[in-house]
Amino acid sequence: KRKREQESLAALQLRVDELDPKTADYDKFSALPLSSETAKGLDASHFTNLTDIQKKAIPLALKGLDILGAAKTGSGKTLAFLTPVLEKLYRAQWTSLDGLGALIISPTRELAVQIFEVLRKIGRYHGFSAGLVIGGKNLKEEAERLERMNILVCTPGRMLQHLDQTAGLDVTNLQILVLDEADRTLDLGFQTALDALVEHLPKERQTLLFSATQSKRVSDLARLSLKDPEYISVHEAA
Ligand code: ADP
Ligand code: MG
Repeated sequence: KRKREQESLAALQLRVDELDPKTADYDKFSALPLSSETAKGLDASHFTNLTDIQKKAIPLALKGLDILGAAKTGSGKTLAFLTPVLEKLYRAQWTSLDGLGALIISPTRELAVQIFEVLRKIGRYHGFSAGLVIGGKNLKEEAERLERMNILVCTPGRMLQHLDQTAGLDVTNLQILVLDEADRTLDLGFQTALDALVEHLPKERQTLLFSATQSKRVSDLARLSLKDPEYISVHEAA
């Protein structure tokens, strides 16, 4: 069984390597080089066709590139980053022993909860542990759970508190960082917290930054947190 798994993983990796994001034009999730776990999770959640931002972002993100993506609210940005997050950890054969592999930063608790719900749906066939870090609970209690998590969805202030204070939280293996709704996060006054957060994280990582609008502050944040990003934007259909 182990050998079969290794072979299918190698075959998947080959399909990702052969994917050319410049010419890639996938309408359906079933056509993308995805693990069967993610494919099943998307299917069971009734996601079949990709939205425009997903068409542009997912192939690039699967290739491991950093992304600065702009698309209005409701365009489907959540799956544009959650699909690559699951695939990144799957292809790295991430286990509970590897610690925190993905960190998703959201401006508000409500949005973090929404992201977490989508993650639970499409990630249900994976074995990853995932948690929410949005405050409202005892810091110490939250800290104990954190130490075992592979994927965290958080708000900036609370996550920074843990990075500063939770000794057992090890982020040195982090593979992928997502900054969702970056414009709103900055509007809410989290610039300093974000800068400090990013300082805690390993430099070798993939970063996906999504925003509904573009602004000077978003591009300043992008300059600090992204490496050679691909710029993608989706405009409203006429
Ligand atoms: P955004 O973050 O860009 O505001 P969301 O990720 O919250 O957008 O998605 C908006 C809505 O579109 C959600 O209800 C979501 O379930 C739905 N959605 C996203 N992607 C797809 C898809 N590929 N197929 C069908 N519905 C989708
Ligand atoms: Mg969103």
